[in-house]
Amino acid sequence: MKIGLEIHLQLPTTSKLFCSCSTSATEPNEAICPTCLGFPGSRPRLNRKALEMGLMIAKRLECRIPDVIWFSRKTYFYPDLPKNFQITQYESPIGVDGKFLFDGKTIRILRVHLEEDPGKIKRVGRVGEELSLIDYNRSGVPLVEIVTAPDLSTPKEARDFTSSLITELRYLIGISDKDEQTVRVDANISVAEERVEVKNILGLRNLERALEFEFVRQSKMLRAGKKIPRETRRYDEERKVTLPAREKEFEEDYGYILEPDLGVFNVGEIAELMAIPETPLMRVERLSREYGIGLSEAKKIVFTSYALADLFEDLYSKYPTSKALSWILDQLAANWSTLEKKMTEDMRNSILTTIGSILSGSISENEGRKMLVSIIKGEEFVGASQELNNQEVTKIICSILNGHPEIISDYKTNKRAANFVIGQVMKFFKGRYSSDEVAKLVINEIERRLSR
Ligand SMILES: [Zn+2]
Repeated sequence: MKIGLEIHLQLPTTSKLFCSCSTSATEPNEAICPTCLGFPGSRPRLNRKALEMGLMIAKRLECRIPDVIWFSRKTYFYPDLPKNFQITQYESPIGVDGKFLFDGKTIRILRVHLEEDPGKIKRVGRVGEELSLIDYNRSGVPLVEIVTAPDLSTPKEARDFTSSLITELRYLIGISDKDEQTVRVDANISVAEERVEVKNILGLRNLERALEFEFVRQSKMLRAGKKIPRETRRYDEERKVTLPAREKEFEEDYGYILEPDLGVFNVGEIAELMAIPETPLMRVERLSREYGIGLSEAKKIVFTSYALADLFEDLYSKYPTSKALSWILDQLAANWSTLEKKMTEDMRNSILTTIGSILSGSISENEGRKMLVSIIKGEEFVGASQELNNQEVTKIICSILNGHPEIISDYKTNKRAANFVIGQVMKFFKGRYSSDEVAKLVINEIERRLSR
């Protein structure tokens, strides 16, 4: 089975794509003007923010971005489109030939382009006495369309891919939380040779259902020895079936022409200078590559929290062992939702120090686990920051050294002899102080004794 998707998402700009009308109006036909209603003589002007968001997406998807782009008019007649054409991009999308790495698989991105949304038609009244109401608030709202190659192989994968893409874009340009329900997708699916297109699927759940239905329908036809006709269908959400779409709803010949009112845009340089922040999946991939851990483990860390991923990087760069990874996953990731709420800089340091002490062998795993649990429960860390009390700590260091005079002579040949003392002090104070600070005091004291 081969599945390709055309994903339409609304860009989170405050104004529309070609005029300054608001994108967040609530009353019907509240945010409209001559431009988004297509009155004669009105002139569209491109929203720079929308263009930048589009370029950001194209860049994130590793697309080739042309130096110059322009817009086209896609002509069709429908009441939701008062000017009888939609401004979109046809010959010159903002990005082509990209790719998206997803669960270790590469999905090719054929193109990314910008276009305006038409208005919204609402049908009310009883069958036979229906009225159509039109709301033009949506007319001119900026959309990005992302077209994939037929590289997806199951309905579930198509859903997960779209969900991951949305998560990335949410991080990148701040698209809304509702997008998993409001994303509009056209899907191509071929079980055998012939391709069937299902248009206008709303939301991720319907996407998976529509594709599953198509898979079963096409498989049954094949088993019955029938040929699958190439056709366009639509998904009926209520009956949970796909149905043949009436031809006139999806007229193919739109007669694209250049949009003369907008001109051309030099986007190559803008795109080149644009910096892409590291998105969640980019970070997953980097953690896996840089630290040699599995993709699924990296994903678990990053998707639990960026702060946990920071902690992981701090720890793992010092102790690159599978044990470090399991402390992060078993003790921290598992408790992260409660932990995150009370996390302070001190607490973070104590956690790092404690796991570090376990990994370097200066305290036992059992002791370390107990200390971690008490840190996680917040027993030792009720808000206030702990100033290191040098005198108090040095007193304990001295008593340990007095009890173990061999450490001083061991230290002359092996500096790691100090770890025992550091571990004991950490244990005594239940990880209240950072191990770096404690280590400094321990080494000071040992060297003071050696120089006597
Ligand atoms: Zn307007």
